[in-house]
Amino acid sequence: MRIVFLGAPGVGKGTQADRVMNQFGWPKISTGDLLREAVRNQTPLGLEAKKSMDAGKLVPDTVVIGMVREKLADRACKGGFVLDGFPRTVAQAEELSNIIRGQGLKLDRVVNFRVSREDVVKRLSGRRSCPRCQSVFHVDFAPPKVDGQCDRCGGSLVQRSDDKPETIEARLKVYDEQTAPLISYYEQKGELSHLDGTGQMDQVYGRLLSLLSGLGPQ
Ligand code: AMP
Repeated sequence: MRIVFLGAPGVGKGTQADRVMNQFGWPKISTGDLLREAVRNQTPLGLEAKKSMDAGKLVPDTVVIGMVREKLADRACKGGFVLDGFPRTVAQAEELSNIIRGQGLKLDRVVNFRVSREDVVKRLSGRRSCPRCQSVFHVDFAPPKVDGQCDRCGGSLVQRSDDKPETIEARLKVYDEQTAPLISYYEQKGELSHLDGTGQMDQVYGRLLSLLSGLGPQ
């Protein structure tokens, strides 16, 4: 199945995309993860992207479209994929549809995760991640066993630089202005389903599975 996860930062797209990937084997393509990897590796693209990311702004369309195009051409995506955090602009959505159409395929569904603004801010500001193995925790909702330490590899947990309060505000403004218009864009195409993203991770996953099973055989 070819799916897009849409929604503001902090709605839980990445977490749910990981679970879908583990259960069904469809690779998760997260442009945020790919960009953070480029930043860690200090590639020219990463060094350039870091400025936009730290300011809570979007990285130029051409950069992310190129990354996604490369990933979708990979054999691993032939049986399906989950796009997490892409598209984020109408131009990206148009290009995605060109790429997929060029492969003689179509998107099965765009899932729009809905969580209140108050909850999104709580989820983002309490998020902590492990720079070594990329595991993600939350100080209140998914705390590590030992404070500040990764359960999986023992690494020291950090707050993402773009999860600081002033950057969260900038990212949500960018979402409202540039990404939220994709809801009506996909609604008009008849490709959108809304998903209630509130509550525990397992509850949200249960809702997601029933939504996906309603789309036909996996
Ligand atoms: P995320 O992990 O999805 O919240 O993404 C973190 C940051 O990476 C965003 O705030 C943007 O600066 C950048 N980014 C991720 N995906 C995209 C995209 N599709 N288009 C532009 N910038 C992106």
